Amino acid sequence: MNKSPATLTLEKRREQLQPHIVQVSPNVWVSVAEDVSNVAMIRGKDGLVLVDTGMIPDRAAVTLEAFRNIAPLDRYPIKAIIYTHGHGDHTGGSPVFCAEGSKPEIWARDNFGAEVLPFERAGLMPLFKARGGKQGGFLLPPEKRICNGISPVRYPRAGGAVFSGKTGAVLPDHFFSDDVTLEIAGLKLHLFATPGETDDALSVWFPEERVLFCGDDLYRSFPNVYPVRGTGNRDIPAWCSSLKRLESLDADVLVPGHTDPFTGKDHVKEVLTNYREALEYVFDKTIEGMNAGKTPDELAREVRLPEHLSSLDYLEEAYGNVSWTVRNIFNSLVGWFDGNPLHLAEGNSPEREALHMAALAGGEEALFRQAQNALALKDAIWAARLADHLLALKPRQKEYLTLKADALEILAEEMLTATGRNYTFSVAQELRSRAEKTATNPEGPVASA
Ligand SMILES: [Zn+2]
Repeated sequence: MNKSPATLTLEKRREQLQPHIVQVSPNVWVSVAEDVSNVAMIRGKDGLVLVDTGMIPDRAAVTLEAFRNIAPLDRYPIKAIIYTHGHGDHTGGSPVFCAEGSKPEIWARDNFGAEVLPFERAGLMPLFKARGGKQGGFLLPPEKRICNGISPVRYPRAGGAVFSGKTGAVLPDHFFSDDVTLEIAGLKLHLFATPGETDDALSVWFPEERVLFCGDDLYRSFPNVYPVRGTGNRDIPAWCSSLKRLESLDADVLVPGHTDPFTGKDHVKEVLTNYREALEYVFDKTIEGMNAGKTPDELAREVRLPEHLSSLDYLEEAYGNVSWTVRNIFNSLVGWFDGNPLHLAEGNSPEREALHMAALAGGEEALFRQAQNALALKDAIWAARLADHLLALKPRQKEYLTLKADALEILAEEMLTATGRNYTFSVAQELRSRAEKTATNPEGPVASA
């Protein structure tokens, strides 16, 4: 089978996501792609400051060893760790760095972990974790994952610090709200709030060597405004203001939370400007379309980045996705109602619609044949749609479950955005195992997807 363009792009990215240490200035090194997130080391007069810690302790240990070859422990104890935000892929490696015993100060924003709070308060962590696991592809075999767009394929240990920066991580003990200047190990570092991918995001400015650490407010992909595991609003205007503030610093080096650093003052500025323009463009076009009465379905198809932005490798939709962003802008601002009064009517249901579709097709069997034809013609979206109708009629029918799984696997292969690809493959895998169970125990209960 020929590989899809999406598969080839992700394979190319996998090549770039080989673990390596890069020195970006006289006293700053970054461990890229060893772990899910980058870990940066700033060497001071008599100690180190780390920016983020990665997610997986075993990987943190590899990074620490590499850092110790550059800056030996007896001269350079870790004096501070800074969490750019509260995601577990940036905090989970912390126990390894803290195990050296130097009792580092751990810095974060005072709303650390804000993104997960609504889920916790609502008692929604089971859903958050289930969807997060699918988005991460943690139940998929490695050959189905390639890379996560901006990070290499890694599997957390069971119960690992994945979903909330508070699980399994050493918790921050130093907080600030807007900005603060740290003077530590002979270094002067400015920390300031840059709400973007998350509300609790911060950036770190090391003026002496003109290095800027921006966490996940920028990495080599279109920004992840909507992770498919689910999230509330990721505030694009606030994100753009943060990017503007980063631009104004005229940094020589920009160290993102994932993927390789950017170097050269002009290049850094250009990257920050283009990134902001991409976000602004999608936001403005969506608002314009909403005011013109367009629905999320229409806008998700219509709003695309202009060529001069979409052709940039750091705006490829390998991790964030433009059409999901459009939908989230709509939803965050006006909620679920798309403006079509049909969707206010309460008489419809998936079963009712499926009965009508089957009648239109000439019966359930004819509907199944249509779905099979669509699959044979590689119209996977239509095949999956018809499979949904068939499953609304018979949720445990093995052939229907398998058909949907087949269609989803074709869709996943064609999907560039790695989180959606992982999610789609994961559901296909679930449907197959449900089909298997149905075959061995047709009277058993319906397993939940
Ligand atoms: Zn991250």
